[in-house]
Amino acid sequence: MQRIVLNSRPEGAPTAENFRLETTDLPTPGPGEVLVKAQYMSLDPYMRGRMSDVASYADPVPVGGAMEGGAVGEVVTSNHPDLAPGDTVLGMFGWASHGCLPGAQLQKLDPALQPISAALGVLGMPGFTGWHGLNEIGRPKAGETLVVAAATGPVGSMVGQLARARGLKVVGIAGGADKCKLATDTFGFDACLDHRSYATAKDLRAALAEACPDGIDIYFENVGGKVLEAVLPLMNRFGRIPLCGMIAWYDGETSDTRLTAPGLWRTVLVKHLTISGFIIANHYDRYPAFLKEVSPLVAGGQVRFVEDVATGLENAPEAFIKMLKGGNTGKQVVKLD
Ligand code: NDP
Repeated sequence: MQRIVLNSRPEGAPTAENFRLETTDLPTPGPGEVLVKAQYMSLDPYMRGRMSDVASYADPVPVGGAMEGGAVGEVVTSNHPDLAPGDTVLGMFGWASHGCLPGAQLQKLDPALQPISAALGVLGMPGFTGWHGLNEIGRPKAGETLVVAAATGPVGSMVGQLARARGLKVVGIAGGADKCKLATDTFGFDACLDHRSYATAKDLRAALAEACPDGIDIYFENVGGKVLEAVLPLMNRFGRIPLCGMIAWYDGETSDTRLTAPGLWRTVLVKHLTISGFIIANHYDRYPAFLKEVSPLVAGGQVRFVEDVATGLENAPEAFIKMLKGGNTGKQVVKLD
């Protein structure tokens, strides 16, 4: 089997040298375990965090260890009574051609219902993240205005589409004219601004103020950086901020980090803002409720999704590096040979 391991820790943005392709023996499943041949693997921004040796909510990947991540694939050998060869399953197999895990840790999928890769995006962890953060922390109400950046990614597009369906005005922020068109034409956002076309947070804020004449009630925070700085002063009193991610800062401090503590805290205070961080791994008790509500919406086309498919395990690092810089359009997956 083949797998991609962490060759070295990145200093700043990850590079190809931080990864290494290895060939190892195929594992033999023990009692209760299942051997799976991976068909699609997921590339997610959180994996950048696992590459660094800093304290976080999860342990870092050790240097020389396999990159972590979710994948869907076909059961080859099963020592678990509920799974048989040929079944399609979702599991944390990592960046690898095969995975061997206890059957109890695998989710069986019905390939007739959706393309199996949807279990990594719109109906998987990122889609669930958008649904949960919007409902539990955003608490959307019809007539309000919501802003979300990384608007065409699997989290942002879920947030925007659900909020729009609930009668909110939804303004996206995305990188480039094509992504903005995708946000409005495919995902039904009311408007979308290209953050790359504004030199400063102040310029972006002026455009946002025009797009959101009634202010912003919910800012679904995916990126931090210049976007956060632009949005915060436009928040309405009693606004809510689900703090989901801050990809602009994942490589360390950048020139975008000018939102200093006094300005930040004063805005939170005088606007009565509620900000709550959340890590979706801690909320999987709600995953069945998400699937029950959103699966029919995906099947019926009310919630749409776009995937960016790279091919071949060896190309995963390049696709990952590209995604962190916004080179992906839609959910980034890798189709394995
Ligand atoms: P995406 O597929 O949207 O990919 C990340 C996107 O971030 C890029 O395509 C790019 O979009 C945008 N981006 C990158 N750098 C910047 C920047 N400097 N400023 C503005 N935008 C930038 O990712 P996901 O939908 O999977 O994830 C979105 C966010 O949600 C991430 O921050 C991720 O870490 C977080 N997340 C958090 C979870 C949790 O449990 N809290 C779970 C899952 C995801 P564009 O080109 O449009 O700018």
